[in-house]
Amino acid sequence: MRKKIAAGNWKMNLLVDEATSLASAITEWYSKQYQGEAEVILAVPAPYLSLVHAIIGGHKGIYLAGQNVHQEASGAYTGENSAAMIAGVGATHCLVGHSERRQYFGEDNALLAKKIDRLLATGLVPIYCIGESLQQREAGQTLEVIRSQLSEGAFHLPADAFGQLIVAYEPVWAIGTGVTATPEQAQEVHAYIRSLIEGQYGPSVAANTSVLYGGSVKPANAAALFAQPDIDGGLVGGASLKAPDFIQIIQAL
Ligand code: PEP
Repeated sequence: MRKKIAAGNWKMNLLVDEATSLASAITEWYSKQYQGEAEVILAVPAPYLSLVHAIIGGHKGIYLAGQNVHQEASGAYTGENSAAMIAGVGATHCLVGHSERRQYFGEDNALLAKKIDRLLATGLVPIYCIGESLQQREAGQTLEVIRSQLSEGAFHLPADAFGQLIVAYEPVWAIGTGVTATPEQAQEVHAYIRSLIEGQYGPSVAANTSVLYGGSVKPANAAALFAQPDIDGGLVGGASLKAPDFIQIIQAL
């Protein structure tokens, strides 16, 4: 059965003391008070991977993720981080294809397919982010954009490799804007994503793939989103920076 997951994407936020406090507060609460089954993933800035690993390491159910990775194994790529480096400091997961990477760094589906391959070859779980822009939604292109991002970025994988992935549906118009997709809008796309996975890999892989929703998830809207049958958790940006808010979102799962 697929996992329920609350992933926090800290983006390029927090100074070192703030990162330490936030990771400590979440770990303390999760390990001592949380009774549920949801897993937690913290996608933190690369300079904080070791630090956060030292805080969360050894606590069951709480995992560390990179926010980006280079597609090559190593070499002359100043400023980049390899999958082996990320794994070597304790990460088990990595975001791939976040809309900010697609938009500001020109990452396209073909490049993201290579990054996914590199992560899988290194034993890291890719969290593959897909989602349409406002312009694409208004032009009625949402499902077509989702289909091409999913198929061009990930459907080259054999079934056992695809089965390792987590997919995150993040409508670009809802990220960091305070505007959330309604539970019905999100469910429609999540069900479509699952149907595409089923068409490519069959019902078992589709039923076992966790598909997270991202885009202004907050304590006030999390429960309604997570109640949808094809939404298996959240990829949370802004609200993951405040321990009480992120904890409420985990509880909503
Ligand atoms: C994100 O960064 O993936 C995200 C969904 O951000 P926010 O929750 O702030 O919209």
